[in-house]
Amino acid sequence: RCYSDAPITGDQATLDGNEAHHLLHVLRATPGMAVTLFDGSGQEFDAEVVACKRSTVELAILESRLVDRELPQPLVLGVALPKGDRQRWIVEKSVELGVTRIVPLVTERSEKQGGDKLGRYVIEASKQCGRNRLMEIAEPMRWSDWLTASDLLDEGTPTHRRWVAHPTGVRPTAAEFAQQLPTLLAIGPEGGLSDGEVEAATAAGWKAVGLGERILRIETAALGLAACLTIPQP
Ligand code: SAM
Repeated sequence: RCYSDAPITGDQATLDGNEAHHLLHVLRATPGMAVTLFDGSGQEFDAEVVACKRSTVELAILESRLVDRELPQPLVLGVALPKGDRQRWIVEKSVELGVTRIVPLVTERSEKQGGDKLGRYVIEASKQCGRNRLMEIAEPMRWSDWLTASDLLDEGTPTHRRWVAHPTGVRPTAAEFAQQLPTLLAIGPEGGLSDGEVEAATAAGWKAVGLGERILRIETAALGLAACLTIPQP
């Protein structure tokens, strides 16, 4: 699978940059090679390499189809991202689990948020897991803005749940986990959310949810909670 950052509209596509490099130098593409393309629109394309240039690859588009591998309801993950590899881990696994959007959170104790590599992690994970829409990475948001932001769920439905993970919160029931609702999740930083931040969240209508007796690292809390909400029940 390869990603085209230009929308695919006709019967040809040209890949450059990282995607061309991968095809040319890792997969050793030659004319005739079959490739599956996606452009983030939800469509998937059967394509064939027609020409390999120095830094670009030209392809013929043979067939297209809509393949929806998104969650039935949007799931937005607000998380005070840790540094380095752990950040990459969260982004990659969130793509696999179907998270709609990650919002990096600026809290009293968070690390510096944002970074230009995050989008690349999204593309790599989407290639691997078969998603045809890209998980969005929003601009970093301050905790107070995040708690009251009204446009985080695009469809604007008022029926949604907002959960902030907190060690002293109430454990959700199996029925709550199984309910399919547009959802906002908030995960605090390594040093935890301050009492004031948790109070502000509950005052704004967020429910504090506990995830067991042990203190989880940011990525375990984020992905464990997302997995409980997204992996379909039999
Ligand atoms: N000492 C910090 C505290 O007590 O909040 C630990 C912070 S923990 C490393 C990072 C974040 O993961 C927390 O802010 C919370 O959002 C989430 N988290 C970790 N363990 C949790 C648990 N058992 N239940 C709910 N959330 C948890």
